[in-house]
Amino acid sequence: MKQVLGLTLLTSMVIGFNDISVAAEDRLSTNLYLAYPPRNHQTTAKKIFFIGNAPARGEVFINDRPISRSKTGNFAPSFPLEIGENIFTIRYQNESIAVTVIRLSTQPKIPDRVAFAENSLTPARNIARLPKESICLSAIAPLDAKVSARLNFKTIPLLPQTEAVDLPPNSAIYTSENENTSIKVGHYKGCTQISRQGNFGNPLFRVRLDRKTFTTRGPGTISILSPNNLDVIEVTADAGVARTGPSTNYSRLTPLPKGTRATVTGTEGDWLRLDYGAWIRASETKLLSTRIPPRSLIRSIVAREINNSTEIVFPLQNRVPIAIDQGDRTFSLTLYNTTAQTDIIRLDDNPYIKRLDWEQIDPTTVKYTFLLKPEQQWGYNLKYRGTSLILNLRHSPQNLALSQMRKSLNGIKILLDPGHGGEELGAVGPTGYPEKSVNLVVSKLLRDELVRRGAIVYMTREEDVFVSLQDRVKLINNVQPAIALSVHYNALPDSGDAIATKGVGMFWYHPMARDLAVFLQNYLVKNLNRPSYGVFWNNLALTRPHGAPAVLLELGFTINPEEFEWISDPQEQKILATSLADALTEWFNSVD
Ligand SMILES: [Zn+2]
Repeated sequence: MKQVLGLTLLTSMVIGFNDISVAAEDRLSTNLYLAYPPRNHQTTAKKIFFIGNAPARGEVFINDRPISRSKTGNFAPSFPLEIGENIFTIRYQNESIAVTVIRLSTQPKIPDRVAFAENSLTPARNIARLPKESICLSAIAPLDAKVSARLNFKTIPLLPQTEAVDLPPNSAIYTSENENTSIKVGHYKGCTQISRQGNFGNPLFRVRLDRKTFTTRGPGTISILSPNNLDVIEVTADAGVARTGPSTNYSRLTPLPKGTRATVTGTEGDWLRLDYGAWIRASETKLLSTRIPPRSLIRSIVAREINNSTEIVFPLQNRVPIAIDQGDRTFSLTLYNTTAQTDIIRLDDNPYIKRLDWEQIDPTTVKYTFLLKPEQQWGYNLKYRGTSLILNLRHSPQNLALSQMRKSLNGIKILLDPGHGGEELGAVGPTGYPEKSVNLVVSKLLRDELVRRGAIVYMTREEDVFVSLQDRVKLINNVQPAIALSVHYNALPDSGDAIATKGVGMFWYHPMARDLAVFLQNYLVKNLNRPSYGVFWNNLALTRPHGAPAVLLELGFTINPEEFEWISDPQEQKILATSLADALTEWFNSVD
């Protein structure tokens, strides 16, 4: 299972540690085993799958209906859920397991009297904006009510949003539900602008229906900032997480190197909107005493080869926000709040970089584009040294030419990351066999195969221990391998179809990792005749490192009754590891 917050939560739900240990003890005396769901489970899904196992002989019943099973007795049928309590009894011969699944509604409850739905008033947190920006307020109230809000001595009508659409979650892509947008009901919304500066307090919301009126203060205050007196912050985190909006639901942008400075043009709760448009958590920054917006000119640029990489120094007057964009044979660096006075660039003949072009995109944004010689990119590192931005573009691995001559992996550094470990089980198969164990077994087999072919292999763990995501990423950054591979096995959200879903999948994030992901996927599908689950662009902790191409492998679905038999077969694990090592040898021999 992938290492992303949402799915980690799912993982812990999938696992239900206590249930597993209890169940494992149960196993000693029983034949019927239920790996998922836990005995008391809550979900918002419309259906739920039951993952488990019983001896192949005889039948297993769920609520008196016989269910289909694999050759070795694994099962994974799905059952629909009603809102509220759903009781299931799983039975094999004289053994039975009772499970209660509570389905929670995802729709906010529209009040049946003159009132607002709980937690429905927005802004939900204190916000600050620039003068004359559009400020929107919203509420959930009974249908056909008259709703308004009072702010800054003005009454703002909140009108019914009859066509407001709710998007499916990102995870809907795993359950073929990503077109089921739902219409929101009872939503009211209105927008206003304020040109004066100051704190206008909490808006007063009012709902009127059948001559009855209810008023209440909104939870968030609304302030208007003075554009000539904005806060200036400095990023204190190693890589400040910049996002497209003020919560972790919003997409990540290029992280900001430690020391980056910017003005704050808006706030929402504990999130800051920076002058170039991205949002960052206040806790990853510190407030500076200056109120002068950090701006910079840029003149000369020098590039030099160093340790099998090219280091490019961009001297700046201030540590400005940046963005990176990798293309096919291009690598672009955008400097915000910067104006070019560039008249001279030194870039000697270079094995990796063909040319460096630059462009002033708008009066305060400069974009530098490196045209690269090889098609494959090998990672980059970025930091501020003083006020100079230091960009390091890694060249192809030193031993690549020799390896290609010998058709081996001679001297090539490969990092393997067996997912999960210790108390973190990952997904759990029908027999209770946890993903963390098979990840480690297959990673070790792969390590041995890679070492046999001459590679230098680093592992994030070699035992059944917990390793944090940060520590795994740190090792990639320290080792600076040619590539980094995370080894996982997959599961699905509750509403997924565990019987129909199987196959290998690959996950990549930076464009430099895409070709490797596709190559590995096609290789396993063709040479091992595995079903293809798909290749995904996915923003995961172990695909985000940019020091090397990084791919996260999901080698099959532990929750699929038949695929699990292949996953847990030691002979097949060996064949898989050999095939992966062959694939990597072929890939390294095909790149430039
Ligand atoms: Zn996993």
